[in-house]
Amino acid sequence: MLQQSSYRAFTLRDLPTIPQVAAMPPDLRLQLRAVASVLPFRVNRYVIDHLIDWSRVPEDPIYQLTFPQPGMLDAGDLATMTGLLHREASSREVEAAVRAIQHRLNPHPAGQVDLNVPIEDGREVRGVQHKYGQTVLFFPAQGQTCHAYCTYCFRWAQFVGLEDMKFAGKEAGELVAYLQRHPEVTSVLFTGGDPLVMRTALLRRYIEPILAARLPHLASIRIGTKALAYWPQRFTEGPDADDLLRLFEEVQDHGMHMALMAHSSHPRELQTEVARAALRRVRATGTVIRCQAPLIRRVNDDPAIWAELWREQVRQGAVPYYMFVERDTGPKEYFKVPLARAHAIFRGAYREVSGLGRSVRGPSMSATPGKLVVDGVLEVGGRPYFALKFLQARNPDWVGRIFLAEYSSTAAWLDELRPAHGASEFFFAAEMDEIRRRRVRQRQTLGPRSGASLRLVPAEPR
Ligand SMILES: *Cc1c(COP(=O)(O)O)cnc(C)c1O
Repeated sequence: MLQQSSYRAFTLRDLPTIPQVAAMPPDLRLQLRAVASVLPFRVNRYVIDHLIDWSRVPEDPIYQLTFPQPGMLDAGDLATMTGLLHREASSREVEAAVRAIQHRLNPHPAGQVDLNVPIEDGREVRGVQHKYGQTVLFFPAQGQTCHAYCTYCFRWAQFVGLEDMKFAGKEAGELVAYLQRHPEVTSVLFTGGDPLVMRTALLRRYIEPILAARLPHLASIRIGTKALAYWPQRFTEGPDADDLLRLFEEVQDHGMHMALMAHSSHPRELQTEVARAALRRVRATGTVIRCQAPLIRRVNDDPAIWAELWREQVRQGAVPYYMFVERDTGPKEYFKVPLARAHAIFRGAYREVSGLGRSVRGPSMSATPGKLVVDGVLEVGGRPYFALKFLQARNPDWVGRIFLAEYSSTAAWLDELRPAHGASEFFFAAEMDEIRRRRVRQRQTLGPRSGASLRLVPAEPR
């Protein structure tokens, strides 16, 4: 029997009311409060009671995934924050310290500012990002939060209210008009935050106009979500869940593929009774669940975990899709896994699963020029190199191109890699510079009322 349960979020303010937290030693509680004041924090009853194994805290992977950790701040910042909280400093003083620390945490990962928001007729098409020809991302204004927050979230800045970063979406009408002007687009991906924090009636206001427009070029609608992990009740309980499943069917009745792009970090998330029920219900509508997640130290940096994760996905009829490299924002140092190790973990897991699990691709970096997979380590003339390949690219000509970088055991992102054989830059670098320059010129045409010079966009999805 599945228990009816209503959603309840716990944020910084509610920390003391979580019994498992109240039972922690006072100094650990103070540290937790200190870090949660700086980084986004939000969990819910289901995550606390059914996903975290409290007998293994703090090492427990789901605890690491959802509760901010002392090691995520540098020692000085942590001491500052615990000091302020310990002496019950004024909220103004605490707030000022928090903002200063947040701004040092690279809220805008490299290249993310405004390369992807389309500019047409002298203004930005708000709520839309269009980086790869076939796929448009849409950020519904009212889907910009999640059922719980991941501590490594690359969109963390939008959750802690740093100025100018909250991504305002816009009306579905504008999205439809944009799609009508762009017949090259075959896929719309709703993202956020988590679009499934919206009630179905609200989600319908975004999706129904797309269906009504009967765009012949549109082949799929996707929703990026972590709800299967953090709040599977979204699919199993009450009339709103039933209506969501009906909406998924309606998309398919209009001749389109419906996909859930499920953020799936750890096998435990898929193994509760309610999660299994949720997957079955979603699948019963014909919706395909494709699973993706970043590789995160202390959460899932182990080939055995990924092999089990992919096997569990296949067992429940979901499709392993991407393994991502964690991007360079927020408490990156705490979570980062170097590319060499990421590839070793990927390969270690990949060889343990059947071909049904090998639909996965990775480890993949969503970098400024495109999605780049570390495809292997290659020896040429007795020296190791990384073989890299574009899975997606800003210029479609780059897709599928394989190229080499000097091997490094420590590099964790594209900008830490050097081209092989002493080349001064990667083959795409000059054109990438040209794309940036063109963008700067284009932005100069923006009308004064767009506010565009102030606005920063959130990082793109992985
Ligand atoms: C990953 C990503 C997509 C979707 O790519 P697929 O390979 O089609 O899943 C679309 N836009 C951006 C900006 C992305 O990073």
